[in-house]
Amino acid sequence: MGEEFLAQENNQGLLGGEVEVNVHIERVTDTYELTATLTGTVTVACTRCGTPAPVSVETQEYLLVKLGAEYQEESAEELIIPRGDARLDLTEILYEWVVLSLPITKGHAVGSCPPEWESLFRAHAAADPSEQQTPDPRWAQLLTQTQEQNHQEE
Ligand SMILES: [Zn+2]
Repeated sequence: MGEEFLAQENNQGLLGGEVEVNVHIERVTDTYELTATLTGTVTVACTRCGTPAPVSVETQEYLLVKLGAEYQEESAEELIIPRGDARLDLTEILYEWVVLSLPITKGHAVGSCPPEWESLFRAHAAADPSEQQTPDPRWAQLLTQTQEQNHQEE
C-alpha cells in the first residue's frame, strides 16, 4: 500500500504512509482462509498537537471468506460473499485493518511534539492548576497525623 492509497480516504485520519502487505490465501472447497501481515508506517494527525506524525504499523489479521447466497458480514473475522459473484475487494479490508491496528492515542510520544506545541502545552498546564498533579491536601494531613502518632509511640 503506497502513499496515495493510504491518503485517499481522509475520514479515518490517515494522511499517508507506506505499508507492506503480505496476504496468504488458502482455499478449502468453498472457504477461503486469509492471513495477512501488515508492516510499515502511516502518517496520522497527532492526537495531542494535530500535526502529522508517523506511527508504525505491525499487525497480523485473519479473515474467513465463505461462498454463500448473498453478501453478509458474519463477524469481524468471517465474511460471506455471493457464489455467483465471488469477487472480493481486499483494499477496503486492508485499509480497515491498518486503521484498527492504530492506538487510540496516536502521534508523537509525550514530550516529542514540535517545540512550539510543547511550549504551548507547558503554558497551558501552568495556567490551569487543576491539570497539574498536586496531591490531595487530605493525604498530606493524614501523613502528618501518622507521623505524629509514630512519634508518640516512641
Ligand atoms: Zn504531536
